[in-house]
Amino acid sequence: MKIHTIALGCQMSVADGLEMSRPFIERGAERASAIDEADCVILTTCTVRDHAEHRAISLIGRLRAWKEEDPRRLLVVAGCAAERMGKEVRRRFPHVDLVVGAKSLPRFPALAAEILEGRSRLLESSESSQARTVWGLSETELESRDARLAHGFVTVMRGCNYSCSYCIVPSVRGREIYRDADEILAEVRAKTAAGLKEVTLLGQTVNSYRSQREGREIRFPELLRLVDAVPSLERLRFMSPHPHFVTAEMIRAMAECRSVCEHLHLPVQSGSDRILKLMRRNYTRASYLEKVGTLRRLIPEIEITTDIIVGFPSETDEDFEETLRLIAALEPSSVYTFKYSARPGTLSAAMEDDVPTAVKEDRLARLNELVAQTASRRLSRWIGKPLQILADTATTGRSRQGFKTRWERPVESQVLFSARAASVERQTLIAERIAN
Ligand code: SAH
Ligand code: SF4
Repeated sequence: MKIHTIALGCQMSVADGLEMSRPFIERGAERASAIDEADCVILTTCTVRDHAEHRAISLIGRLRAWKEEDPRRLLVVAGCAAERMGKEVRRRFPHVDLVVGAKSLPRFPALAAEILEGRSRLLESSESSQARTVWGLSETELESRDARLAHGFVTVMRGCNYSCSYCIVPSVRGREIYRDADEILAEVRAKTAAGLKEVTLLGQTVNSYRSQREGREIRFPELLRLVDAVPSLERLRFMSPHPHFVTAEMIRAMAECRSVCEHLHLPVQSGSDRILKLMRRNYTRASYLEKVGTLRRLIPEIEITTDIIVGFPSETDEDFEETLRLIAALEPSSVYTFKYSARPGTLSAAMEDDVPTAVKEDRLARLNELVAQTASRRLSRWIGKPLQILADTATTGRSRQGFKTRWERPVESQVLFSARAASVERQTLIAERIAN
């Protein structure tokens, strides 16, 4: 059996897709690099904006031809959009075999086992002669199949206890559930022992993590320290932290842990305190910038990236100017920028979506222009400086700061090496390898 995962949306969606494919991989399935080569497609969907949901719907529609070519093929539609409109997907797209909403994901492995038992013909008809012979893969062997990538994800919590007024995530993913620290550590150990160099800890507000271990509470900063102590781990990242939980203790742990990369994606959403309040973000422009100031003081090489929403209900030109001023002050090295999209059932959906589309588009374009400037300024500051690069391919990879990098002389992929930044081309640092 060959399995292909397609993830729309955030890294949690990518991680969910990989996790859902595990029960199949454990039973001998292989990864297909294209839809046409696959016997099973797992699509993890996103519902965070209207546009994301439309993409999911159109992709499900286009997968009909693939399914009809061989009805024994298996199409699984999962994730956040599947949670919100599972009924509609079942009704409109009878070619979908299985709909698994984001909240049902923990039950999927058992379901997958049933599918595989009920559909043994699917496995037997597969060209893969290994299909029935590799049941007893050890954890390490299994991970090594997934370790073809230089970096991997480890989910540390699911759900979100916040209620940002624009956001549909809490309603489709539910309340926060934390994974045991020992389970997280076991996964990090297994993955890195199999060759993975870099791990990203994932959660919607990953730094609100807490759990009990040996009778006492572990919070996020301590989780960082525990994971950092895994000797085979080279680089550690985490996504997405919420500014409210960026504490002095968390910053200290980041500064002191050797593996924690000098990069923080810290979504701010707006530079206007009035809008931040309407968004229910639980911080102000000043408190956000103060935390970033501390991060930069204690971790001088850190680069910050962020998310911005333009055109939130009632956003005025002046509110937007404050966002531009915030970006100028923050100097992020990259920003994900979004036009506000009213999502059903959210608090802000009850407000009038009164910023005209043309104004949203104009603000987005102005913001993107400013972001391009600050990003290239940040990149240029690195020229002449040393970088540690993790190769994704023979000539492309990422620095610890999260910069895309490229170089001339091919290296083996997944290798970690020292380099010097030589120049900037668009959003990429051109690097030269330094002999270690
Ligand atoms: N849990 C993460 C992000 C979740 S969604 C966090 O709290 O940071 C990812 C990004 O999508 C958000 O940071 C926000 O910038 C954007 N987003 C979420 N809902 C949106 C909406 N209704 N309209 C436009 N952008 C939205
Ligand atoms: Fe959505 Fe806010 Fe939770 Fe992030 S913190 S998932 S933006 S509700």
